[in-house]
Amino acid sequence: MNQASPSLFKRIFNTAFFSAGILMALIIILLFGTSSKTVAAEAKKPFRILLITGGCCHNYVFQAQALKEAMEKVVKRAAVDVNVVNEGGTGTQYVAPLYDDPNWAKGYDVVVHNECFADTKDPNYFRKITRAHYAGVPAVVIHCAMHTYRSATEDDWREMLGVTSKRHDRQVKFSVKIDDLKNPIVKGMPAEWNPTASDELYNIDKLWPNAKALASAVSVESKKTYPVVWTNQYGKARVFGTTLGHGDTWKDPIFTNMLSRGILWAAGDLKK
Ligand SMILES: [Zn+2]
Repeated sequence: MNQASPSLFKRIFNTAFFSAGILMALIIILLFGTSSKTVAAEAKKPFRILLITGGCCHNYVFQAQALKEAMEKVVKRAAVDVNVVNEGGTGTQYVAPLYDDPNWAKGYDVVVHNECFADTKDPNYFRKITRAHYAGVPAVVIHCAMHTYRSATEDDWREMLGVTSKRHDRQVKFSVKIDDLKNPIVKGMPAEWNPTASDELYNIDKLWPNAKALASAVSVESKKTYPVVWTNQYGKARVFGTTLGHGDTWKDPIFTNMLSRGILWAAGDLKK
């Protein structure tokens, strides 16, 4: 019976070791190559925003432009694509045909609600919107979105917002206290922020259980403290909200920077 010499063992061992090494290298190249391709593909895709706006009381053309410019400063991807749906005139009621398509939010990274239709109240209508968000479409809600569907008795929209509000103070200057300076959305903001413009402080009757206040302000009228910036979880969707943004607050870079970071956060794109 022939016995294999020690040098034969060594050769076999070396060959096996060499082959395993090549295999490992191939796996690493394959994995690393695929993940960098995915990252590169993601970076080439534009950041897509659907902005729903229009209705009573505000300059939505100016606000849409301010939002786009603010996003261009923070988005790391190749482009920012804002689809502005500015419909409904300047009244307090509107039913948008957009929502008749059950896939109305498909393809967008985030939907921003900056509309103002307090007297539209059909729950079958606004549930077409809340249903999509509950299923996972990230939402950002600004200022008069909090009084949109205010006349409705059903709470679906308010649960999505994360707050219930029925009125606001008259327009005055007020300071904003940042409640959670560690939160990545408001990190770096002055702990006691004095916005450059006057605004309307929305009176918050209820902060919903999944909502968390990030900043608050004291009413000059009632002396009560109300959240003005918050995050919410609605079903599978992240929601970012602020009641600021009536008029010239949109010219304050601290506001637009916070808003754009909130939009990134809702979409899952905010790097800490
Ligand atoms: Zn307003």
